[in-house]
Amino acid sequence: MPVRNERRSLWTWGYVSDEPTDEARRAAAKALSGRLGAVVEPPPAPRIEDIELRAPRIAVPDKLRDWVSQDHVERVTHTHGGHPLELLAALRGEFQHPPDAVAHPRNEDELEATLAWCDAAGCIAIPYGGGTTVVWGVNVPATCERAVTIDLDHLNGVLEIDPVSRAGRFQAGLLGPDLEAALKPHDLTLRHFPQSFPWSTVGGWVATRSGGHYATNHTHIDDFVESTRMLTPAGWFESRRLPGSGAGPSPDRLVIGSEGILGIISECWLRLQKRPRFRATAGVTFDDWASGTEAVRHVVQAKLWPANLRILDPVEAGMNAGLDGRRSLVIIGFESADIPQGPNLQAALAIARACGGQVGENDIAVDDGHGEATGRGGAVGAWRNAFIGVNAGLTIGLGLLADTFETACTWDRWPAFDAAVRERVGRVLRETMGASATLACRFTHVYPDGPAPYYSFSGVVPRGGEQEAWAAIKAEATAAVVEAGGTVTHHHAVGRMHAAGWARQRPPLFGEVLRAAKRTLDPNGILNPGVLLEA
Ligand SMILES: Cc1cc2nc3c(=O)[nH]c(=O)nc-3n(C[C@H](O)[C@H](O)[C@H](O)COP(=O)(O)OP(=O)(O)OC[C@H]3O[C@@H](n4cnc5c(N)ncnc54)[C@H](O)[C@@H]3O)c2cc1C
Repeated sequence: MPVRNERRSLWTWGYVSDEPTDEARRAAAKALSGRLGAVVEPPPAPRIEDIELRAPRIAVPDKLRDWVSQDHVERVTHTHGGHPLELLAALRGEFQHPPDAVAHPRNEDELEATLAWCDAAGCIAIPYGGGTTVVWGVNVPATCERAVTIDLDHLNGVLEIDPVSRAGRFQAGLLGPDLEAALKPHDLTLRHFPQSFPWSTVGGWVATRSGGHYATNHTHIDDFVESTRMLTPAGWFESRRLPGSGAGPSPDRLVIGSEGILGIISECWLRLQKRPRFRATAGVTFDDWASGTEAVRHVVQAKLWPANLRILDPVEAGMNAGLDGRRSLVIIGFESADIPQGPNLQAALAIARACGGQVGENDIAVDDGHGEATGRGGAVGAWRNAFIGVNAGLTIGLGLLADTFETACTWDRWPAFDAAVRERVGRVLRETMGASATLACRFTHVYPDGPAPYYSFSGVVPRGGEQEAWAAIKAEATAAVVEAGGTVTHHHAVGRMHAAGWARQRPPLFGEVLRAAKRTLDPNGILNPGVLLEA
């Protein structure tokens, strides 16, 4: 029934072919042995056939059996999303709350029939794209009596390309690489590359308001959505293709970020661009974090709009870019389909140097449309490889707890915000992880009015104590960012994980309006209960 060639890995990000070998896992354990106190043997990966599941609690009607399955593998692979604790649970063979059935509708008629059945039978319906959610967006709630996961994998077509307006009509289950492969012959690109790009889908991106890895200007999926089509239990909800509109609140704004609680996105029109040919990249080091972040502010406020404008703090630059652990690294990259980018890079470098940045001639790479690689050498290249090669499977199950939290705040709050977050989260990290704790920060996105800092933490916790330690750290991190004036998430979405935190930052009446919208579109409350709005 599934249409994708490969099965998702249960215990690392991506597919089975992305799983590290036992040898690579043992090497990682050995490399970490200093922090772990002793070399730990990585636990064996579970065999899917050995995993125990409760029996399905519903019967699938005959007329849906062509695309709704209760197969063991299907139910196992749709139990967890991509959060590190979920990967860990999966590695340990813990699959307490599987869906009772998994639907793979092959067209909109089958999607309608599936949702109508769920609604009539009182089944929770969980829309599923690539399952890369890191905020508990695709789990079956523990208290629910029956649940069906609706995997959009068959709705994976590129339905139309409009080269005149530069837009395309895409089905929701289309994966990132397949979308870009279809656009390449047209010399077009969506140019939306979240770090989970290989395994996530168009529908997932729109549902979660995903953020691409470009740092400024058009990078969020919000920027690219021209119109949406979504099936709700109350009927179809489809907006008109428009380049812009001042006609009241935007219907698309209700769909983008709705995280599957209002309906199932089946397709959308997205704005496209010509593929970039001209590129220029440089790495600039700073002796201190504060002058580096000031340089980033000045560059983004100069409105040069670099595609890449990231700062790694000394810890992050030391761990992932090969620096000495004392200096920060600012990565600046420009690209364009039409215009050479060397002059823009030089303008940004002049600003960075004026703020105390140091850049050697070897750290600058410019490609004037000849297809030469930029940003692949030195510290910038090292960091790029670490970013692209992210693999949770190497350290999972070793007793090392690693996770991230990401946020955004305005520049006027920034230095105090960072200090408060480091102080509060640093304290709880020391309490739970002792001297093994690390806390690092980088900016993933920057705006003229503020940065989006992304904090990573890791450290050793007693094996079996991961959940408890994580909960203490996460509670403090959420309180710290919300109380310091930031957002509970910048691009990882709300899911169930951030539902309570989000309630603290939004206007209370907005929550009521969203609940009212849900009551209209999903009167029986079957879609993703507990996501966005606490149950
Ligand atoms: C290693 C890694 C790196 C990541 N990097 C980024 C990043 O750089 N930027 C970023 O924004 N996020 C990132 N994420 C988070 C995640 O990839 C995004 O939230 C992504 O948009 C989810 O897409 P998906 O297709 O996997 O959706 P899923 O995980 O399947 O679903 C996500 C949520 O959307 C709902 N949903 C899915 N499809 C539909 C649909 N068609 N209609 C209605 N609701 C739907 C689901 O019910 C769920 O609540 C990362 C995750 C991982 C594991």
